[in-house]
Amino acid sequence: LPVAPFKNEAPTDWGNPENREELNRNLEFVKTELGKEYPLIIGEKEISTEHKLASYNPALHKEVVGYVCQAGKDDIETAIKAARKAYESWSSMTFQERARHLFKAAEIMKRRNAELVAWQIYEAGKNWGEADGEINEAIDFLEMYGRKAIELEQGQELESLPGIENRLEYKPLGVGAIISPWNFPLAIVTGMTVSAIVTGNTVLLKPASLTPVIAAKFMEIMHEADIPDGVINFVPGSSGEIGDYMVAHRDINFVSFTGSKEAGLHIDEVAHTRIPGQRWIKRVVAEMGGKNGIIVDESADLDAAADGIVTSAFGYQGQKCSAGSRAIIHENVYDVMVDKIIERTKTLHVGPGTENNAIGPVIDDKAFKKIKEYIEVGKEEGELIFGGDSDNTRGYYITPTIYKDVAPGSRIMKEEIFGPVLAICKVASVEEGINVYNDTEYGLTGALYTNDRDKIRYARKKMDCGNLFFNGKCTGALVGVQPFGGYYMSGTGSKTGCLDYLLSFVQAKTCAENF
Ligand code: GLU
Repeated sequence: LPVAPFKNEAPTDWGNPENREELNRNLEFVKTELGKEYPLIIGEKEISTEHKLASYNPALHKEVVGYVCQAGKDDIETAIKAARKAYESWSSMTFQERARHLFKAAEIMKRRNAELVAWQIYEAGKNWGEADGEINEAIDFLEMYGRKAIELEQGQELESLPGIENRLEYKPLGVGAIISPWNFPLAIVTGMTVSAIVTGNTVLLKPASLTPVIAAKFMEIMHEADIPDGVINFVPGSSGEIGDYMVAHRDINFVSFTGSKEAGLHIDEVAHTRIPGQRWIKRVVAEMGGKNGIIVDESADLDAAADGIVTSAFGYQGQKCSAGSRAIIHENVYDVMVDKIIERTKTLHVGPGTENNAIGPVIDDKAFKKIKEYIEVGKEEGELIFGGDSDNTRGYYITPTIYKDVAPGSRIMKEEIFGPVLAICKVASVEEGINVYNDTEYGLTGALYTNDRDKIRYARKKMDCGNLFFNGKCTGALVGVQPFGGYYMSGTGSKTGCLDYLLSFVQAKTCAENF
């Protein structure tokens, strides 16, 4: 089948009144859909369970987005059997046959784009732009992994010998557990799940407990795209009850996780504890946190740098693992940069995503409390120069908060806060700035604003992170354009959005045939 060249989905133009009307219609429609029940999906069965978990709107925390059935250990057993059964036929299809389903799913997402944006606004607390960007990223993952899977069909080119045909082919691993996060409840669910299935595996999908309704919408789309029963088994549930159980299970071949560092390290440990009768070493793909930073040199375009810092720090309330929560600024431009950052932050309105406010709510009460604690820690470690307020009467709102003169070793310079909190630190040179940047256990994203090519060359070598941007913000890596993933405690080093990622879910088989 001819496949058109890959192209990233373009952002929706909200200046166009037709697009705004379509979104408003969908916001109304989705409002009428709130509060429904979502079953488990195992093999061909939809299973309603006694225990259901409510998902709430973070902007209006009394509003229930949906009630989602919760899997228990027995359901996990049934799901593993269903996945194993589906594996027999799914794994023997060609990459091309499987990829077709991803292209169909991409078309369905394009058609349902405005509705999915509305679900993001209600369940994840995103604004229009953040929600739209995420749907586009989900579509990009489908389009990209479909195309890259087709390339895997060829195997790898090998040296030839007379009289022998040698081939290296890619085979799936088996049955996997997908454990996905709440902050990109469609894009990351899609990316993690379809990379694993397009390579021939079958999976159990345990979505984040804070955004399971969007994951249920993903399942609807996969069903419409004709993914056979049992290829993706939908098993929402608590990490304590079923998370470890799945990860430790003898019949799970691999685990793909995105979420916090603590949870990722725990999963890694559980997955690598040998179970009697286990026949393989489980593969763990983990993408975890970040303590990302933006360095500003005295030679930089200061307006561009201030734009990049504010967007990276406060986009989606700082709840991205790529968020730029540290600004490390050259002393010669420090005061003017601080003013520029404040000036821009002042324009950010706090309020619900339905009205497209720049700063929406943080995800839940636990996050709200944790961020507030860090705001107190920050007061000890730097000078609070903006924000610091919070209000949880209707939704979980925290104003963008900025500290200056924060010392390099302090907690708010080293620990991931996952909220709208920015720490600013002064340095005497880019070299010193890079040392400060590197002084965390993470290594996910970073940026350097400079007009000095020597400093760019130096930073390429010395800034320790998986995604490095020059003269640009450190969030919003594009599928296929900027493969995404970090070093050290940020993850196992896999790169999403490119061919490499698919190699995480296959094993190679070399066949040599003598004639
Ligand atoms: N890929 C996203 C970005 O580049 C971040 C993903 C995450 O937060 O897990 O901003």
